Amino acid sequence: MRCSRSGIPFCKRFKTAGVMLQTLSQRTLPRVGLRWQHHAPVQVANEPILAFKPGSPERTALQKAINDLKGKTESIPCIVGGEEVWTADVRFQVSPFNHSHEVAKYCYADKDLLNKAINAAVAARKEWDLRPIQDRAEIFFKAADILSGPRRAEVLAKTMIGQAKTVIQAEIDAAAELIDFFRFNAKYAVELEGEQPISVSPSTNSMVYRGLEGFVAAVSPFNFTAIGGNLAGSPALMGNVVLWKPSDTALLSSYAVYKILLEAGLPPNIIQFVPADGPVFGDTVTTSEHFCGLNFTGSVPTFKRLWRQVSENLDHYRTFPRLAGECGGKNFHFVHASADVPSVVSGTLRSAFEYGGQKCSACSRLYAPDSLWPRIKAELLEEHQKIKVGDPTDFKTFFSAVIDNKSFERIKKWLQHAETSPNLNILAGGGCDDKVGYFVQPCIIETKDPKDPIMQEEIFGPVLTVYVYPEKQYKDILHLIDNTSPYGLTGAVFAQDKAVIDEAMKLLRNAAGNFYINDKSTGSVVAQQPFGGSRASGTNDKPGSRHYILRWTSPQAIKETHAPLGDWKYTYMQ
Ligand code: NAD
Repeated sequence: MRCSRSGIPFCKRFKTAGVMLQTLSQRTLPRVGLRWQHHAPVQVANEPILAFKPGSPERTALQKAINDLKGKTESIPCIVGGEEVWTADVRFQVSPFNHSHEVAKYCYADKDLLNKAINAAVAARKEWDLRPIQDRAEIFFKAADILSGPRRAEVLAKTMIGQAKTVIQAEIDAAAELIDFFRFNAKYAVELEGEQPISVSPSTNSMVYRGLEGFVAAVSPFNFTAIGGNLAGSPALMGNVVLWKPSDTALLSSYAVYKILLEAGLPPNIIQFVPADGPVFGDTVTTSEHFCGLNFTGSVPTFKRLWRQVSENLDHYRTFPRLAGECGGKNFHFVHASADVPSVVSGTLRSAFEYGGQKCSACSRLYAPDSLWPRIKAELLEEHQKIKVGDPTDFKTFFSAVIDNKSFERIKKWLQHAETSPNLNILAGGGCDDKVGYFVQPCIIETKDPKDPIMQEEIFGPVLTVYVYPEKQYKDILHLIDNTSPYGLTGAVFAQDKAVIDEAMKLLRNAAGNFYINDKSTGSVVAQQPFGGSRASGTNDKPGSRHYILRWTSPQAIKETHAPLGDWKYTYMQ
């Protein structure tokens, strides 16, 4: 079997890395006293992004996978205790760009079933936690290889049809990013075992990286197939058991990812797959005494609600739960007078409108100097006309429908606000039509008021607002950017003047967890730009880095002394 991105076969990768695959008997040896410092880094590389050129094998495979889904409705049960379970509360996931197509039939787990899932998970915990990390990592390397090879087209097609992603958006998410999460997390986890304390004679010290005691609740959003796999997968890799509540609007792809993990050897009870009503899930997991962690990505109100519920239930828990939450953003592009205009225009169009602006990192506020604005505006409007919104399986489409009726209505309200507010002037786009799918045309708005709510609140749709500032006042604008929105996720500075870049980096130090210089605010890559922000954007645990896996382990320090203590009295007492 080959790991396509690194080109290194799995077993060889371990040998190359000096982390020899152990036989079963070796794996059961006690770890205390092993010389971990001999471990070298495990070699993995980012998964290459395929081009899908006409006639390429990946394009042919994808077309076939898309055709296989045409008119089909997949039945997706809850998976609890290793068994498929159906409840009476049956639901459907529809295709956002053609809502008459029900792509998945699934059911909500109720409170009883969620409690069964908790019991089944907790019962499986000890044995899983005792499995050596090499063993657990092997499953995730294998899942990455399956996703990279035989199941790539299927997962991409399900992400395209179910979540309305174009081929490139599906590829960078459901293939490249998820494969990277699995491989890099597994690498970091294996290497973490090499992080050992010093030993001083006559004692040997070691650190055992245990999973958390209880179960972790993983709650995922609709907009990245990779995030679901990572939210559930990372704690599992680190020896935890997980209840995964996927998003209602990403079930088709989430279930495909879940099945790949099982195919790769994940034992049945480690991740319970439980689609559920959000509040029913939240209420049930946070009142269980076994709740020990929340791995959440989604909106701020949902995360705050869960955090409050955790604090209300603190007295019930056996251990203090770990709470990780990655939330929204109000991401900015700041343009200085020294900026390169073509890269501002291209970067902003991609960042604001790719996937219909439904990325937490999407640029939604642009600050342009009055000296450059006429040029930027002319080029933005010219390029805007070329954006094709439509069916994502048509390879000319730049972005497709927004995810559901709720999103469509929310974005429509913002567009109505833009139409009626005296501060705002719609420069282009903004038409909406939900007859066939939830389509919103890309919209560019100019505001006279830099503090208008449209500059402060997350919209999560294809809406970009521009504030034009007097060129000389750029320092005030940097302060304004820092203070305008409660979020701190991503942001970009476009400038050729190095002094301005330095200044912006200092003034915007807390305004973005992912900061870009002369590059757009989206497109972070696992292990290259670990992702996340603070303020209202979340706990900034940086999925896609070593920091992240540390959240899912509770280390135990062990001291073994090899010489008897002898006399209990101290020498000064003699
Ligand atoms: P959402 O908050 O509506 O839903 C997220 C998940 O929470 C869903 O699975 C939902 O069913 C569940 N949920 C809802 N109420 C719940 C409750 N009371 N208890 C438990 N679970 C509950 O968010 P969404 O619309 O799916 O995703 C969009 C949001 O996610 C945006 O704000 C976006 O910025 C954010 N996001 C952030 C990142 C990041 O890394 N910072 C990445 C992707 C998305």
